[in-house]
Amino acid sequence: MIKLEGIRKSYAVGANQLPVLKGIDMHVREGELVSIMGSSGSGKSTLLNILGILDDFDAGNYYLGGTRIDRNLSQSKAAHYRNQFLGFVFQSFNLLSFKNAMENVALPLYYQKVSRRERNRLALEYLDRVGLRERADHLPSELSGGQKQRVAIARALISQPKLILADEPTGALDTQTTQEVMDIFKQVNREGMTVVIVTHETDIADQTQRLIRMRDGIIVNE
Ligand code: ATP
Ligand code: MG
Repeated sequence: MIKLEGIRKSYAVGANQLPVLKGIDMHVREGELVSIMGSSGSGKSTLLNILGILDDFDAGNYYLGGTRIDRNLSQSKAAHYRNQFLGFVFQSFNLLSFKNAMENVALPLYYQKVSRRERNRLALEYLDRVGLRERADHLPSELSGGQKQRVAIARALISQPKLILADEPTGALDTQTTQEVMDIFKQVNREGMTVVIVTHETDIADQTQRLIRMRDGIIVNE
């Protein structure tokens, strides 16, 4: 599903280049549930943003689902690959505050020009999958943290991505809610989806099939 070879990435800081990824080789097979851990600043989010084609890299090769992802992609090509392959879940949920749960979940289909009727039907179906059908008309401000994250997961799932990328999805949640969110990831993984989760929590990593450890811009062990 994912193959990275010698991925490098620096950020420009003033006149200097700060190397953040220093040659990442990584392989994730289709249907795997993988976690990535590493201390703050080790480059986990940078790596996930590259995997998600949200950010460019400086050197190396990236293959996603058999497709080579070139550097310096146009915005429209990057968006095309994201729509075709990827679902994102972030620590801060990233829901639209003025849209209710159903509308938030339906949003990716709006960009795919699916009719309103069909969008809403599917959004309710996916809300049901995360146990929130009865909250369909609630605004994000009327939902708990765990519920917001489940809405965000339903939104990530609705376009049936091949790969879910989650950056500290439970970072803002308590233990009980963390487990509810993790159970959803495990369920969709059992149904065949590939899932990559960046986390600081050993409890999360212990529930994945494989742990990738990063330190200072490299992968130190698996
Ligand atoms: P955390 O666990 O705190 O989320 P992380 O492993 O996700 O950390 P990254 O966010 O990938 O770390 O950041 C890696 C390094 O790159 C850090 O030193 C950070 O300061 C730097 N960095 C990240 N984004 C930028 C940017 N846009 N411009 C400059 N430096 C950046
Ligand atoms: Mg991070």
